[in-house]
Amino acid sequence: MGVLTFLKQLGNTGTNDQANDRTCRYRIDAEVCRGCGRCKKVCRAGAIRGERGRAHAIDAQICKGCASCVRWCRVKAIHSI
Ligand code: SF4
Ligand code: SF4
Repeated sequence: MGVLTFLKQLGNTGTNDQANDRTCRYRIDAEVCRGCGRCKKVCRAGAIRGERGRAHAIDAQICKGCASCVRWCRVKAIHSI
C-alpha cells in the first residue's frame, strides 16, 4: 500500500468521521447575550454569527458541538438544548 492510500484510509476511519458525527447541542439565549463576540472568535467551525453589541446565534447546521463557546461566554448565555 502506498503512503497516500494509507493516509486516505486513516482519514476515512479516524477523527474526521467522529467530528462529522457530532451535532449542535447548544443555543445562545438572546436575552442574556451581550454581543461581545468572544464565542465567535473561539468557534473553529465558524458556526456563530452576530454583530458586535447584538445577540449572537449558533448555526446548528455548522456547529460541531465542541462546547468551546460555552466555556468562553462570561455571562453564561450559551445553554445546552
Ligand atoms: S460570548 Fe456570550 S455574551 Fe459574548 S457574544 Fe457569545 S453568547 Fe453573547
Ligand atoms: S459548540 Fe463549538 S462548534 Fe458549536 S458553536 Fe460552540 S464553539 Fe462553535
